[in-house]
Amino acid sequence: MYCKTPSLYIHIPFCFSKCTYCDFFSIPTGKKEIPDVYVDKLLEEIDYVIKRYGISKFDTVYFGGGTPSLLQKTQIEKLMSKINSFRDENSEDTFELNCDDVSNEYLEMLRENGINRFSVGVQSLDDKILKTINRRASKKDTENAIKTLSKFTICHPETRSSVDFISGLPYSSKKQLLDDVQKAIGLGINHISLYSLTLEENTPLYRQVENDDVSYSDEKNENEWIAARNLLMDNGYQQYEISNFCIPGFESAHNSRYWQSLDYVGCGSGAVTTIFSDDGKSALRYANEKNIEKYVKCTNFEEVKTDIENLDEKTVLFERLMTGFRTAKGIDELEFFKRFGRKIEEFFPESFFDLMKEGKLIKKEHSYKFSPEGMLFLNKSLIELLDKID
Ligand code: SF4
Repeated sequence: MYCKTPSLYIHIPFCFSKCTYCDFFSIPTGKKEIPDVYVDKLLEEIDYVIKRYGISKFDTVYFGGGTPSLLQKTQIEKLMSKINSFRDENSEDTFELNCDDVSNEYLEMLRENGINRFSVGVQSLDDKILKTINRRASKKDTENAIKTLSKFTICHPETRSSVDFISGLPYSSKKQLLDDVQKAIGLGINHISLYSLTLEENTPLYRQVENDDVSYSDEKNENEWIAARNLLMDNGYQQYEISNFCIPGFESAHNSRYWQSLDYVGCGSGAVTTIFSDDGKSALRYANEKNIEKYVKCTNFEEVKTDIENLDEKTVLFERLMTGFRTAKGIDELEFFKRFGRKIEEFFPESFFDLMKEGKLIKKEHSYKFSPEGMLFLNKSLIELLDKID
């Protein structure tokens, strides 16, 4: 393992219903509770990864989904009583919630169990949009959730808040998105993720757009995203990663570790694990089967590992560059040299030197990073980087 203390990701692949744009692995359960057998299997798998990789501590913990907030109090207590003996007191432990599930009592129960960061999927504060994309919560529920979250984290300053928005949704407009984001800013939410809608094949929304049932335009999406990004930056939120903004000091430690290509283990059906070699130059990556029944019934976790990949040095190096350049911190040339024994500039395509002359790619205190303006051209730049490495 490259770092001694990996991150732990727990996947909860259950949702009340499916949002029309979503292609994450989760199954709609309606009002049914998450089965205890799934939680028991997660507990077994946590034991398995701890032994298998000789883990003494987790650096960060993240409950994602799906909808982790469908978990019941007793299920969370069970999971956290195991996890708590393998985490540092001050580690960041994030829990994703659906707006419908946000209440003072639920947040307090999570806090009492060691969760210190709450990430709420908002996406929009407009009833027509929420209904069209099949979100469970209404505008009123969503607004109440953000208010409750904000009040709770103000009363408990050791906890942090995060909400997500998506630009380019059906029936969205620049004004509506800006009003929505402004509400979250006004309530002092610490961290805001701003995603640009991606139309994923095999989603109902993709088919609706193809059939002209709803309209979608890349240009409208981009304009909305840029306007919301500017609003966030004008209000003191740092764009510390291409889609992530925060009040300085409130970066997500868990996600930042992915962007630095550090080890993480994923537990649960569909969860991905990446364990790097001790020198950090190669890695083993696999995903657990996206089949809950098979996962729950397995007698050996090796049986449910799929998509097993041995990443070679070229792939790890490329991922390090791709993810590192997506962050405002960029990539430290000394750290890069220590890990790969190569100078980072060796991999720069010609266009990168032009971007440096234009001030879109900056070198500051040993780190190469894209300026906020340079970030707008990031995708194109990363494609050129890939060509150069190939
Ligand atoms: S709640 Fe989240 S994971 Fe579940 S369907 Fe909606 S977007 Fe996907």
